[in-house]
Amino acid sequence: MASGSGLSIDVHMAPMRPFVGAASEGAGDQPLWSPMSSSLITGAEEAVLVDTLITFDQVDVLADWAERHDKRITAVLITHGHSDHWIGLGRLLERFPDARGLATGKVLDRARFEATDAGLQKYWHTCFPGEIPDSPVLPGLLEDGTFELDGHELQIIDVGQGDAEHSSLVYAPSIGAVVAGDVVYNQVHMMTAETDGASRAAWVANLDAIAALNPTTVVSGHKRVGAPDSPETIEQSQQVPARLQPHRGRPGDRGRHRRRHAGAARRPRQSASAVVCSQAGGRQAQLNRAISMTGAGCGAQPEFRMSSRSGAAHEPNSLQNAPTSDAKHRRDKGTL
Ligand SMILES: [Zn+2]
Repeated sequence: MASGSGLSIDVHMAPMRPFVGAASEGAGDQPLWSPMSSSLITGAEEAVLVDTLITFDQVDVLADWAERHDKRITAVLITHGHSDHWIGLGRLLERFPDARGLATGKVLDRARFEATDAGLQKYWHTCFPGEIPDSPVLPGLLEDGTFELDGHELQIIDVGQGDAEHSSLVYAPSIGAVVAGDVVYNQVHMMTAETDGASRAAWVANLDAIAALNPTTVVSGHKRVGAPDSPETIEQSQQVPARLQPHRGRPGDRGRHRRRHAGAARRPRQSASAVVCSQAGGRQAQLNRAISMTGAGCGAQPEFRMSSRSGAAHEPNSLQNAPTSDAKHRRDKGTL
């Protein structure tokens, strides 16, 4: 997307792909990892990448794509500490030696935890055997909440709760663009395993805070390939965490949601792990519970599981258009 202000933003997609998860439940049932984005914010000479993707091949394709923009990449900014957003950093930096990996303190804390916790290490290596580094490179600490790109300010805002407890977003005010990581989702299944009622309420409020920036471009960490990076994704992302609350929505919003999304108004079926988490009480307890489940293998975190057969059997909280058919799946193999 070009801009007269001097900055522009382009989005690269890694399409949905298989990973090693729980055993198949029948023909056409296959664990598929959610499609992921990495954004390139460019100035006249320089550029920054936001998030790294996961596997060696995904990172190589991303690096090839970024290289074609012919800018000097000065940083790789990490939105949050879930490994799927930063574990490719070391391989990416080999291609862009002028760049630094950077994250806010809380994001870095979670990334370091994921890199050192035995259960999480096992989880990621089980999901993507031979496709991720044994010793992942962590980002450095971003001391300041701003980053200068060719004379333009980028703001790295610690927004707090998204699908992870501590998330940040990259805001380019001059072009009204927000790279939102996993605080905003776009037409794909949302991961809620690490949330409870209080954190989901915080998530919904944080989405309001993003809306208050009045962005014209909002890039989700996970999105359906081809889905527009529109600000409508902010309100759409409030539906799932709001519906999982006991009152099924924020006061005053319920009628509005019903009217606007009548076609997708069926009650989302909560996965077993999300139910367990909601009963555990307390964010740390949930996190510990989610982490302990990961030690049992990828299938223990069914929030990431999608089905390639029709009927969305494994998409308990999909918004509306998560790919469900083989034909749709094939369409999603392309990149933006
Ligand atoms: Zn993610």
